[in-house]
Amino acid sequence: MFLEKPWQKSISTHSSTTPNQLTKLTLREHSTAPISEYFGELTFGLGQMREKLPKDAYQNLVKALDQGKKLTSETAEAIATVIKEWAVQKGATHFCHWFQPMTGLTAEKHDAFISIQHSNHSEVTVIERFTGGQLIQGEPDASSFPSGGMRSTFEARGYTAWDPSSPIFIIDGEHGKTLCIPCVFFGYHGEALDNKTPLLRSCQSLSNEAVDFLKCIGDLDAKQITATLGPEQEYFLIDKHHVAHRPDIIMTGRTLQGASSPRGQQLEDHYFGSIPTRAKAFMVDLEHELYRLGVPVKTRHNEVAPSQFELAPIFENVNIAADHNTLTMETMKRVAQRHGLVCLISEKPFAGINGSGKHCNWSISNDKGENLLDPGTTPHQNLRFLAVVSIVLQAVHRHADVLRAAIASPGNDHRLGGNEAPPAIISVFLGSMLDKIFNSIEKGEASQATEAQIINLGVGHIPNISKDYTDRNRTSPFAFTGNKFEFRAVGASANVSVPVSILNAAVAESFRDATNRLKDLLTKKKNRDEAVMELVRQLTVETKNIRFEGNNYSEEWKKEAKTRGLPILNSTADALEVLHNEKATEFLVSTKVLTRPEIESRYHIAVERYNKTLEIELRALSELVSGFIVPALEAQIRASGETRTLLTSEGAKSAQTLRLNSMEISLEEVLKHQSALHEGLSQLATQKSESGTLKYIANELTPIASLLRTSCDEAERLVADNLWPLPKYREMLFANH
Ligand code: ADP
Ligand code: MG
Repeated sequence: MFLEKPWQKSISTHSSTTPNQLTKLTLREHSTAPISEYFGELTFGLGQMREKLPKDAYQNLVKALDQGKKLTSETAEAIATVIKEWAVQKGATHFCHWFQPMTGLTAEKHDAFISIQHSNHSEVTVIERFTGGQLIQGEPDASSFPSGGMRSTFEARGYTAWDPSSPIFIIDGEHGKTLCIPCVFFGYHGEALDNKTPLLRSCQSLSNEAVDFLKCIGDLDAKQITATLGPEQEYFLIDKHHVAHRPDIIMTGRTLQGASSPRGQQLEDHYFGSIPTRAKAFMVDLEHELYRLGVPVKTRHNEVAPSQFELAPIFENVNIAADHNTLTMETMKRVAQRHGLVCLISEKPFAGINGSGKHCNWSISNDKGENLLDPGTTPHQNLRFLAVVSIVLQAVHRHADVLRAAIASPGNDHRLGGNEAPPAIISVFLGSMLDKIFNSIEKGEASQATEAQIINLGVGHIPNISKDYTDRNRTSPFAFTGNKFEFRAVGASANVSVPVSILNAAVAESFRDATNRLKDLLTKKKNRDEAVMELVRQLTVETKNIRFEGNNYSEEWKKEAKTRGLPILNSTADALEVLHNEKATEFLVSTKVLTRPEIESRYHIAVERYNKTLEIELRALSELVSGFIVPALEAQIRASGETRTLLTSEGAKSAQTLRLNSMEISLEEVLKHQSALHEGLSQLATQKSESGTLKYIANELTPIASLLRTSCDEAERLVADNLWPLPKYREMLFANH
């Protein structure tokens, strides 16, 4: 008899009624309105400030933003007043400073807008109040946020300060509305305690260095450079009833056990297929919320793995894009719940099928909005394009190791290097046309070039590159894709501020170096264009090793990367050590993105988080085994025993006892591995130093855990389906939409 499992019943009730009803409920009045009518209705940015603020207050704000000056207290009061009026009118009762501590998540502490006024006759009146001081600065209890040893608890003061460059927004939750003020978070001596501060510093540094360079090549009117980012977010949608019966997903965000289902992604039929109705309902609801929050979501589609999807926004200034990506991830999780789903954003929730990444499309543009990575239409733009590409090449070539460290996380370790994700070795793919151009430049064919020759390299007109550009190498971790670079090795759950501030800093340093070299070349060459071409040629020669056009998944590439001397940092444990290398991280200090103590603290936090995450996973696996898998095996042995008695009494052949015998072997194996893991975990308690723990977990415990997992996956195949206590991959990935 086929027993119905607890989750099956719940799911069938759920899918028949809930999604449609929920969608109707949550889409409310906007369901058919054009997006432009409600886009950003829950945000308060510069546009509204201009409308609502007294003229001088608005001008002061713009000046503060442009010149990095402090706001006066009068201006802050004026801004706070208009923000409060808007927020209260929208129905917000509370406000919070919204910031991104180094946990990788966001933090918020809510305060009500109320204030009490006492009149002469001891009458008490409650009014809505929000002051300039409350807008600009907060002091959350910082002792519970990671500081990596930069503060001891007794001096645990941390401050949040409003970042006026990112729009204020209202979270319209199921239980009330809260005004959120995007903030930086820093310590008593100004030390960065968050992910936003280094990002803002890196934007500043990149802008300064790029402007210097652009002036040197003749763009005299350049004043500011903006880094732009479009993060493509991958995720899985799993039914909440399945998740409720998977303690591993609840504890760690991924499955620690699970045999591959007969069908995975072999047929490649999910990618770009029609979106399942239930997922579509989730997406529509999600997008609706994000539009109201001013997040310009553009693209939605199925991804390669079953139940995997992608969302991509239109690119924005990196600071806003980073806030928006964090907000997107939070909104995804919240909206999924309303649809009876769980949104998994971890990098590798299921073994054997694709993991989830976050392709970070990155570029830089000038004040005129011209994309400097767009080949452009004039010879000057072409030359500038080649120079900027070669400067990015130099940045990645010099700092591939720190870029690798910036994307290191336990989740990403399971994804990088798999046959479906970029490898852990950082290299740059340019595409055949650009590759050809740079090869010619390297040979000096264009080193003496005049403007006309630069576009006449025998490979067609450069301005057509973006239109003709089709050959994309999906295996590359850092690829040029027409008018931007795509950093593909970033993990799905990452806070993009981390890799992007490192990338910005590396490119800033590279611009600075290029400016100095160009100044020198200008004294030697006949004209500026020749000097710039010579610089491009030199950079092309020097960075040759970082360029790779072939298959990054292949074994040959691993060997070749080694002979080229590229950093091969396979695990987080290896990658994080780079942060300990002062020479490797010097560019972060010289570009003023992070101070030495800040780098050190980030190293400690990363190591600690890595250790703790792994330890939680190992304990969760151990519980899963003792609470679910061993009992299932025992139940199967009992059941098989009964069958054997039955069969033997009827004179059955011994072949029919095979299943039972292999079960016993499997139970023995599981128990053996599990007791080894137990022993290891109890020894872990005696590991004192962070790096000691790191090595112990990676070298001693993880291999045992992986043997244990293999035995458990094998057990799943041996135990009868009705005795198996966990939702299987087949059910979670194929029976939920
Ligand atoms: P795909 O890479 O899947 O073909 P697109 O080329 O449309 O998709 O773009 C992917 C992402 O790259 C989108 O989020 C898009 O906004 C972003 N993007 C496009 N141009 C830029 C740019 N200049 N700077 C940063 N991101 C960009
Ligand atoms: Mg892409």
